[in-house]
Amino acid sequence: MPSTPLLMIPGPIEISDAVFAATCVRPASHLAPGFKHAFAGALRKMRTVWRASADHHPFVVAGGGTLAMEAAATNLVDPGHTVLVVNTGVFGDRMVEMLRRRGANVLQVGAEPGHTVPLAEVRNALHEHRPHALFATHVDTSTGVRVDVAGLAGLAREVEALSIFDGVCATGAEVFEMASWGADVYLTASQKAIGLPAGLALWMASPRALEARRALNSPPPMTLDWLAWLPILEAYGREDDAYFSTPPTTLIPALDVSLGELVEEGIDAVFARHASVAARMRGAFGAMGLQSLSHAPANTITALLWPNGADGRALAAIRDRGVIVAGGLHPVVRSTYFRVGHMGAVTRDVDALRRTVEAVGEGLRAVGGEVDVAAGLAAFDGV
Ligand code: PMP
Repeated sequence: MPSTPLLMIPGPIEISDAVFAATCVRPASHLAPGFKHAFAGALRKMRTVWRASADHHPFVVAGGGTLAMEAAATNLVDPGHTVLVVNTGVFGDRMVEMLRRRGANVLQVGAEPGHTVPLAEVRNALHEHRPHALFATHVDTSTGVRVDVAGLAGLAREVEALSIFDGVCATGAEVFEMASWGADVYLTASQKAIGLPAGLALWMASPRALEARRALNSPPPMTLDWLAWLPILEAYGREDDAYFSTPPTTLIPALDVSLGELVEEGIDAVFARHASVAARMRGAFGAMGLQSLSHAPANTITALLWPNGADGRALAAIRDRGVIVAGGLHPVVRSTYFRVGHMGAVTRDVDALRRTVEAVGEGLRAVGGEVDVAAGLAAFDGV
């Protein structure tokens, strides 16, 4: 059952009843047999959801997406390395800043807010500069722009650069194939399409990425060190005792439940569900008269320009109608748009999605926005 008001921001999101139930338990020991069993199950299911193979390494650590990003920046890059960031918004900027603090020589290819970077431009930059690694954000939550991860991973391989993808607003919703695309790191956080409350950083590393960590001259901070965590995760994978820093013993069994739901449905079906919901939501908003900020729209989030007559005041009016959506985030265009998340459990709930379309339309109209709510709902209903 989704909550009231309905949480339709791009994370945290509504969670399923089964995941909610899994979080409502007394804390377990990190060495309890049931906990170790659930941890092993979660790690196994990560390989399925990430489309990884047996030699890829899953990591689950208390924290968030930012921690997973920083772990990648500090485990794969030495001071002085040249790296290329494909920057499509606020989270690309964050990656640039982390890599600079690490002492890397950071090159960027970027685009205007709402646009993606053409692959040809990335290819030229890779061949000209031969960087050690390429970083990109699968879906930048600030703009709703999705990049072509398969294409970027392939280009990185052409010049033997590592490829690292921030999947925080994508993993478990957007098509991704760790093994067949040859990506080296795909990282995320628990509070988006993975379908949990916030609190976990998750990533999968390729054997090549592990080798790059082993070859570093300048070790990462201890809490972020992949090599400190690796034996712990391997032990949990065997349901053995292990300790480095206490794992979140409530969230990890809930992770086993949420990933279990994705695996049971079938990951292709999960991706297809997000694609069809995104098309339906965008169709409804378009019919209402709204325009997308993103010219490469994602399946997890829709960023919409305020229509004539409306602005940020509409957020409260939409909330008064039972739905929480998010304001703009990209500093250059922040006041011109708002964002609706549509990922995870809520995408199985047609009634909740329809309520979102209706509340957005009515809320916009309440502050003077020029929208045709009936046309939006008719498009949603397919009539
Ligand atoms: N990357 C992206 C694409 C995100 O959307 C977010 C969170 N909005 C982050 C990184 C950072 O994640 P967290 O807030 O869990 O640190």
